[in-house]
Amino acid sequence: MQIVFLGPPGAGKGTQAVMLADKKGFLHLSTGDILRENVKNGTLIGKKAKAFMDKGELVPDNIVIEMMLDTIKNTRSHEDFILDGFPRTVYQANNLDRELNKLKLPIDMVVYFKASIKTVILRLTDRRLCSKCGASYHITNMPPKKQGVCDKCGSELYQRKDDSEKTIKKRLEVYNSQTKELIDYYKSQGILKEVSGDMEASKVYSELSEILTPPFLLQRDASKQKELG
Ligand code: ADP
Ligand code: ZN
Repeated sequence: MQIVFLGPPGAGKGTQAVMLADKKGFLHLSTGDILRENVKNGTLIGKKAKAFMDKGELVPDNIVIEMMLDTIKNTRSHEDFILDGFPRTVYQANNLDRELNKLKLPIDMVVYFKASIKTVILRLTDRRLCSKCGASYHITNMPPKKQGVCDKCGSELYQRKDDSEKTIKKRLEVYNSQTKELIDYYKSQGILKEVSGDMEASKVYSELSEILTPPFLLQRDASKQKELG
């Protein structure tokens, strides 16, 4: 199953993707994580992307598209994956559609995490992340058991450089001007589902699980059967 997570920064896409990966074996493909890994390792992609990321701007389409399509092609075809943070522009979405159709792995569902501005700002400013497994925490709402240490893998937590107030504002502007229109793009394809990103993580997860269990899967299998004739 191929799923896209859509929504503003701080809506909880990453948190839910990590939970789904843990519990249901999805592969979590996070554009932000992959870009940050490239920055950390000093790759050519990382060098090109860093300045945009630090400012809260989008990394140019050509870089991100090639990087993500390569990542997808390297997954094995039977693997279920979640695209978290990609696509973020209509141009990226068109390129993704084209490639996934070629691979006969069309997107099954797009989950839109609807969250208020107030929620996302509060979450991002106090967010902490695991430097190793990417798990996400919040210093008051979702604190780790031991301060500064990941519950799951024991690695050190850190604060993202772009989780500063000024850069968060910029990221939200970018979301509103370049990414939000993807809601209509996928709605018109009939594959958009909405969850409330304002709720606490475990509640969002319940909603998500409901969306992901039959009859959705049955419907999907039926339409795949039809496709195959
Ligand atoms: P968030 O969604 O919380 O802003 P991400 O970790 O998904 O954070 O992304 C961090 C940064 O990586 C973005 O601000 C942007 O610079 C870059 N980035 C991530 N995904 C994309 C994308 N699909 N296209 C362009 N740039 C991206
Ligand atoms: Zn961890």
